[in-house]
This record gives sequence, C-alpha cells and structure tokens, in this order.
Amino acid sequence: MEQPLDRSTTWPYRDGEPGPFHYARHAHPTGVEAERVLGELDGGDALLFASGTGAVTALALTLLAPGDTVALAQDAYYGTGVLFRELERWGLRHVLFDQTGPPPADVQLVWVEAPSNPLLTLPDLEAAAAHPAPVVCDSTAATPLHLRPLEHGCDYVLHSATKYLAGHHDALLGAVVCGRPDDAARLHEVRTRTGIVAGPDAAWLLLRGLKTLDVRVARQTASAGELAQRLGEHGAVQVVRYPGFGGLLSFDVADGAAAHAVETATSLIANATSLGGVDSTIESRHRWEPERVPPGLLRLSVGLEPVGALWDDLRAALDASDR
Ligand code: PLP
Repeated sequence: MEQPLDRSTTWPYRDGEPGPFHYARHAHPTGVEAERVLGELDGGDALLFASGTGAVTALALTLLAPGDTVALAQDAYYGTGVLFRELERWGLRHVLFDQTGPPPADVQLVWVEAPSNPLLTLPDLEAAAAHPAPVVCDSTAATPLHLRPLEHGCDYVLHSATKYLAGHHDALLGAVVCGRPDDAARLHEVRTRTGIVAGPDAAWLLLRGLKTLDVRVARQTASAGELAQRLGEHGAVQVVRYPGFGGLLSFDVADGAAAHAVETATSLIANATSLGGVDSTIESRHRWEPERVPPGLLRLSVGLEPVGALWDDLRAALDASDR
C-alpha cells in the first residue's frame, strides 16, 4: 500500500509529552518507513541522509576524531576522496590503498566500495573485515540485491540512494545501514545535530523506487551483461570493465577525442552524469577525475530501454568514432 506523504515538520505533543514524531529534523513518518524497508533489504538499521555525500560526512563526523586516519580504497568514488581531502583541515588524514587486498594497519576506519565507480574493482571484504577498525562498504552500484556487506563482516553500508535505490534520476538521497543498533543510535544523534537529514519528499520517492528495485536491477543486469559482451567484441573498444552483476560498466576507446565523439553521438543514451536510473547515461569520466582515469574511459549506466536499441545506439556511436 502507498505510504501517505506527510510533509509536516512538527506534530502535536500528547498530554504535554513529545511523541515519536515531534520535529522533522529528528524523524518523520515517511523517512522512518523508507528506513524500515531499506533496513530489511540490507539486513540492518537504515538511516537516510540528504545525499550520499551527506551520509559520508555524517559517518566521518561520527566515527573519526582529529588525528585519525581513514584507509580509503583508491578506486572509491572520486567525490569521497574530495570530501576526505576537505576534512584534512579538521585534522582527519587518509591513506589510499588497493581494495583488492588487505587495508593498511594503524588506521581508525576502513572504506571500500563494491564495485567501485568507475573502475569496477571489487573489495576483498574478508580482508577488510579482518581489520580491527570499523569497515564501511559503499555498496551504491551493487545494491542489496547483489551484495549485503553486513553479512560479510562490514559494520556500515553506504548508499548514494540517488542512484539505483530511488532509481529515476529525480531524488537526491543518501543512506547508511548499520549492523548494530547502538551504532545506528549514535549516527542518528549526529544526524539530528548536524541536520544532514533527508526530507519527506525524497524519502517518499525512495519508497516508491524500492518497490521496483528488484525488477529494475534484474533487467539492468541482464542488459549490462549483454552490452559488456558486445562492447568487448567491437574493434573500437580496448577494455571493458564489468564485474558480472549490476547495471554499471565502463570501457575505453582510443583516446579523449574518441571518447568525446562517442558520448556526443549517442541519442537514446543521454550524455549526462549520474547512474542507476531507468534512463541510460554515458559520459567520459576524464572531465571529472583526470588524474585517475584514462582519457578514453566512458562510464555507461544501463537503464531499462530495450537492449537491442541500446546496442544499436552504442554501435552507431562507436562506428562513427572509429572512422
Ligand atoms: N558513492 C558512490 C559510489 C557514488 O557514485 C556517488 C555519486 O555519484 C556517491 C557516493 C555520492 O552520492 P550523492 O551524489 O548522492 O551525494
């Protein structure tokens, strides 16, 4: 059944006592219901934030103190590294590591991403869980349908719910799912104090998106697998990165000029950033993270369009770039 959207920011006290909902920065019914549904999917206690990046900020402020060091997967979403660099001014340090192996010793937090955006590497979750520090797994691209990191010993799962969970490129939202209720209570406290909360409208869009998550991700996975195979057989494509599940992949063409030619030639596939929506998007990532990704790298987020039409669009763009 549809959860009613309650946009209230305040609710009457009962007999002079605040009830479970009294002020929306603390909690609101739409958010709590969305957290219940997401918590079941990931097997823990979920909390919503204003964006995925807001969720990263809240975790950093909750789990770390000045002088602490984060071991950050070098392939993690570039914005996560940008944020940790920003937080250096508050005395937080980070070291980059190869997440396919064990994290370095002497860090106070381990941060991995499964699979990483846009290089599509997978973390060694067993090695991460064996580390004494708490482990956060950004599972945005995997979704709970393909990976439940808490079952692999991680302490926190992070989602940019802007992506697959909400799924329609119309809600900005983050989520953290905690393995232990005490950790969720502390994170909730920091969320209320910092105000990095999600509003009811975004939470409602998440609830609606979650109803179709499994059918969307199943189709996106089937299409992405087929496209990855066909891309690998195309003469203009040098490398395809696809972990075998999910709707996100990346591939390399010859150079920056070829990548520009491909991304501006597709018509069904939008030349736009972001990922995880029902509409496919493609972009050269070099414009955002030039120090890390090759100039010819294109990131493709596969939507729900018919796979034959997606391939026709891609093939025509690749053929034109190859002339
Ligand atoms: N984590 C990953 C893997 C992402 O791809 C993104 C955004 O692209 C984020 C976190 C940040 O999420 P948001 O854009 O919702 O702040």
